[in-house]
Amino acid sequence: SNTTFTMIKPDATGKSYTGAILDRIVKAGFSIKAMKWTKLTKEQAGAFYAVHKERPFYGELVEFMSSGPIVAAILEKENAVADFRKLIGATNPAQADEGTIRKEFAASVGENAVHGSDSDENAAIEGNFFFSELERF
Ligand code: ATP
Repeated sequence: SNTTFTMIKPDATGKSYTGAILDRIVKAGFSIKAMKWTKLTKEQAGAFYAVHKERPFYGELVEFMSSGPIVAAILEKENAVADFRKLIGATNPAQADEGTIRKEFAASVGENAVHGSDSDENAAIEGNFFFSELERF
């Protein structure tokens, strides 16, 4: 598919990196199909990351993702999911390639600035979590 889903996470919005990160995304050739500035409750963050419920970092992840504002967006580009994962870089910024968004903006494996869907199926599920038909085109 040609769409993916992203969030700019609370560490990045809190450091006022939102504009710079959106600039990197648009300059990499992604177009924005839907976007919102919002803040997740703990319950909403827990539901979004339910696939990670059994992981040791789940509690920390839910706390972090509900700790401040986020930007959620649906992005369009040919080969969107794989190209966006390449643009953001490795989960751990210490392992992220030079030139990736996480290399430039992320602080740690937990507070890593951005989310990117890992499959077409999850891109659709995650986009639907945040956006109704009226909020996208
Ligand atoms: P995302 O799904 O946010 O794009 P990812 O696919 O690169 O990230 P996952 O392994 O799916 O990474 O983990 C999801 C999120 O959980 C990570 O982005 C990070 O915020 C958090 N996380 C992952 N590993 C750890 C860890 N060891 N300690 C703390 N938080 C972690």
